[in-house]
Amino acid sequence: MSALRHLKSGTAIILLLSMLLLSACSSGAAVSAAETPEPQAVEPKGKVYYTYFDTVSYVYDYAGDSAERFDERSAEVSLLLKEYHQLFDIYHEYADVVNLCTLNKAAGGEALQVDRRLVDFLLYAREMYALTEGEMNVMLGSVLRLWHECREAAETDPASASIPTEEALRAAYAHTGIELLEIDEAECTVRITDPEASIDVGALGKGYATERAAELLESEGAVGYVLNIGGNIRCIGDRPDGSGWVTAIRSPERSADDFACRLRLRDTACVTSGVYERYFTVAGQRYHHIIDKDTLYPAAYYVSLTIVTRDSGLADALSTALFCLPWEESAALAESLEGVEVLWIFPDGEQRSTSGFAALVEEAEA
Ligand code: ADP
Ligand code: MG
Repeated sequence: MSALRHLKSGTAIILLLSMLLLSACSSGAAVSAAETPEPQAVEPKGKVYYTYFDTVSYVYDYAGDSAERFDERSAEVSLLLKEYHQLFDIYHEYADVVNLCTLNKAAGGEALQVDRRLVDFLLYAREMYALTEGEMNVMLGSVLRLWHECREAAETDPASASIPTEEALRAAYAHTGIELLEIDEAECTVRITDPEASIDVGALGKGYATERAAELLESEGAVGYVLNIGGNIRCIGDRPDGSGWVTAIRSPERSADDFACRLRLRDTACVTSGVYERYFTVAGQRYHHIIDKDTLYPAAYYVSLTIVTRDSGLADALSTALFCLPWEESAALAESLEGVEVLWIFPDGEQRSTSGFAALVEEAEA
């Protein structure tokens, strides 16, 4: 039920983004009427997958690869996403796969031998914890589970919706230390040392997998591809005519065809975290899905936050972490990072951005 709802709400945004990516291409990349139209670009090819990460994934080729080559490349991406989806799943186990669900079940017990890719991912998650000073913490599972359960219950029976008690949240928070995750890189084993602790990679998994897919395509020399994995957009190189891809950042709380701004992207990742993505309502108050470790309640500083940076994993980690920091700290962290551009949208509609963000913004046509 909730998976379906998420899929639906996610789809609206993602389809819109995809539509824009496509229309940007077919309309000659949004050139204004006064400019000489570009030569017609090749028709883009696209594939869509519904089975990974509880969301919708797209692979596009704007480079004019042959149908066979595109089929081959999209099949490789699909297989990679499937494998990461299985490794990162916290709700289901799969034959012959030790995944996060298995690790969570084994919490407090023995170390388990895992796929090297899971070790690499968890090491990266730890790095992101350090970079964000704990704002993005994959060990927040015990706290996130309480919110998740309330959201599920609210979807089933909205009339009796409730939120977790402060007491329950505080008790769960006692089991979220990053040191509870033990990784033996040499042995390729992982152990969660506290039986009450658990991993949740909702903030990082999709972006990380998107980056691995981009890496795979890049290693084969692909350019002119775009991945959109549940809103984690990753542009591989540029379009053959050098005009990049135009995408729109949704204006929170407004209609889906009203945009905060449009961005022109090349060879980079772009991801938006918003309060409108996944939430439930109790007594008229909305509770969204990004949890501030300091309050253990949904972060209240912004309604939407967009990251543009080359690495999609970093973009995903930051989209959650910067959301949980008050303006000065959020801005200071963003500006301290090379090649990271950010757009913050505040609850009153005010927009602020990093110094390099304006260069990405596509001016509205006259
Ligand atoms: P999206 O749903 O678009 O992927 P995010 O990247 O912001 O949005 O990730 C939100 C998800 O991350 C939540 O559903 C939850 O599973 C997890 N999460 C929420 N808050 C945190 C946090 N502070 N640290 C780590 N994970 C979080
Ligand atoms: Mg994120």
